[in-house]
Amino acid sequence: MDLEGYGLIRLIFSVALLLAFGTSVIACGGEKSVTPMRAQSPVATTPADGSVLKISLPPDNGPPPKIDGSRAMQYVKEIVAFGPRPLGSANHKKVEDYILAHLKSDAVENDIFTADTPEGKFPVHNIIAKFPGTKDGIIVIASHYDTNYPLRKTSFIGANDGGSSSALLLEFANQLRGKPREGYSIWLVWDDAEEAIKPDTEVPFLDDSLYGINHLAQTWEADGTLKKIKAFLLADMVGDADLNIERDTNSTPWLEDVVYEAATRLGYQSHFFGRTQAVSDDHIPFVKRGVPSADFIDFNYGYNDVFWHTTQDTVDKLSAKSLEIVGATMLETIRILDKMDSLPPK
Ligand SMILES: [Zn+2]
Repeated sequence: MDLEGYGLIRLIFSVALLLAFGTSVIACGGEKSVTPMRAQSPVATTPADGSVLKISLPPDNGPPPKIDGSRAMQYVKEIVAFGPRPLGSANHKKVEDYILAHLKSDAVENDIFTADTPEGKFPVHNIIAKFPGTKDGIIVIASHYDTNYPLRKTSFIGANDGGSSSALLLEFANQLRGKPREGYSIWLVWDDAEEAIKPDTEVPFLDDSLYGINHLAQTWEADGTLKKIKAFLLADMVGDADLNIERDTNSTPWLEDVVYEAATRLGYQSHFFGRTQAVSDDHIPFVKRGVPSADFIDFNYGYNDVFWHTTQDTVDKLSAKSLEIVGATMLETIRILDKMDSLPPK
């Protein structure tokens, strides 16, 4: 069989899958439509208004960013060792303290408030670590750290869902700490209460989720911080050993193209944008407010997402290499953004 024949069979298989499963609605989430296609060119994108946006990318130079995937994986193991960490639980408090203990020498801001949910009031704790740069503007990297509330009475530990990305942010802090930054300030955000409190079958996901990040977006809009945020990068479910980051149509097209360019420069492009999906996740409140946003998410977690939101979401499904690939690509994305003369507004 030649490659073209194989491609045709794959296409037929993909169409068959599409017909079999169609579109489905999934939280953390959200709407998911499967359309096999590659990314657009990294230098020209089509914004929602139909115009073609030309992006001038800086040259590919300098050493690739460093990420210690093994150390990040160790953090995943330590986070999940606390057990399920749903909102309001004792385990949740232990993970808050665990993250803060890692950030002892950093500039940390705590955003603590009470969320009013369909199950009552819950304490919510966003943790923000700030690493100042020389350039005027902020790039936010966020990850939720809570586990799914409806699954709180099970052994669901969210190794990939909440664990992998929160661990990766701890590794980002290691890489950023104590080094002068030639570029935008970077704020790492461990946001809370991303997961729905009620099952999605009872309350639509976007009406009962994203409590922590919504609060931050509102606060930053009110105090003027939002205007300084040049890009919002989100990590969610980034540890799957079989790594395939989606091209998310809710993310900002030009920023997704920069992500693909960053992955390509590092030789990781085969792990990016093999599928295109619309993902509802923590970036939505920033997208709605016009902040360029990119969600790094691999939604295809086990065949037909069989591990997602199940007790099978455990560390043996993850790999240090995947954490390294996503981590390095996020930092390379920032390196490109740092060097771009000006960033498109949205
Ligand atoms: Zn989830």
